[in-house]
Amino acid sequence: MSRGKDSKPHIGIFGRRNNGKSSLINLLAGKETAIVSPLAGTTTDPVKKSMEIPGIGPAVLIDTAGIDDSGELGMKRISKSLDTLKIIDLAVLVIVDNNFGHEEEKLVNSFISHDVPFLIIHNKSDLVPLELKTSNSIKNSYQCEVIEFSAVNALDNNQLLTALAAAMPESAYTSNAMVGGLFKPGDAVLLITPIDNEAPHGRMILPQVQAIRDILDYDGIVMICKENDVEDFISKANPRPVLAITDSQVFGKIGSLVPNDISLTSFSILLARQRGDFANYLKGTPYLDKLMDGDRVLILESCTHHVTCDDIGRHKIPHWLKNYTKKELQFDVVSGLGNLPRDINDYAILIQCGGCVLTRKQVVNRVKPAVDAGIPVTNYGMTIAWIHGIYDRAVGMFQL
Ligand code: SF4
Repeated sequence: MSRGKDSKPHIGIFGRRNNGKSSLINLLAGKETAIVSPLAGTTTDPVKKSMEIPGIGPAVLIDTAGIDDSGELGMKRISKSLDTLKIIDLAVLVIVDNNFGHEEEKLVNSFISHDVPFLIIHNKSDLVPLELKTSNSIKNSYQCEVIEFSAVNALDNNQLLTALAAAMPESAYTSNAMVGGLFKPGDAVLLITPIDNEAPHGRMILPQVQAIRDILDYDGIVMICKENDVEDFISKANPRPVLAITDSQVFGKIGSLVPNDISLTSFSILLARQRGDFANYLKGTPYLDKLMDGDRVLILESCTHHVTCDDIGRHKIPHWLKNYTKKELQFDVVSGLGNLPRDINDYAILIQCGGCVLTRKQVVNRVKPAVDAGIPVTNYGMTIAWIHGIYDRAVGMFQL
């Protein structure tokens, strides 16, 4: 595990309207940062704000809609608020006036079912103090303390910050290594990176940058070459690389060029291990051989900027998969974290991209409906390795 600088804990603030959620966020930020939707009253999206929280460090606070919101738009807001449970590390439920009713119970049960740790804060306690009956009832039901809080009391502020820091799970700060653990300090790792029309001009794609950083973090030596130089580069390399990581697009070609004494995998497979549902991908990938005529394949790419994986998801994987299976397959490609065009049960298999812009929690939750429905899941790199006959070599080093 490593503690990445970009691993910011995400905290969702929940509660009824006018419970003081926004004031609480201002207070946590340590300043008056009014958090308002750019289109207040018309947008359905929860509002995110990056800020430094004493005791926690950089964090993202998510101000959600009131759980008692009403009307068609209100229902949409609540639904979007519940979606944030898929990405937050900690939930804070704000109550006032000892009002812990059916809405709050439903919400806490959602926290529990999404495995999200939570705190319950009784706000505005200077106006209506927390009653023992309320705190005991909540404690008996959920084995959690209720924090009595008032924004006008500085001592309460410190108590709140301490409680937040204590409740934040360690997983909010850490992420699995991407390449670390696959080589020893001082070993050389070769990155094979096609520089073609799809490569963003003047820079490397994000998975390559992430791999470089991770190798350096684990005291390895980074070597980089283009796919046409691989044989020549390896024959002259000193030290000889112990591991080669290739872009999945050239897996077929590179598989025969990298000698067998050098481990070989792809950026996408490393991302699958680091931030995907890797155990289920390993189970699901062999199902590619069982696809039948008429089967529908769901391809999920997690970003919407379409600069790096667009061609892979929309063209190359469908093309390779049709050639490999010799079946009449149908493909749906969905970008970002938007809704699926069909019921998940309409799909024979789901192929998820590396998710380089997402957290592990987001990727796992993205494929969870398919896993829950018993639909095989895999990822771009694992699919491409399978199609090109180098799957065992590409995942063998993970020894699962
Ligand atoms: S999020 Fe997915 S589709 Fe977007 S660049 Fe990363 S791996 Fe590719």
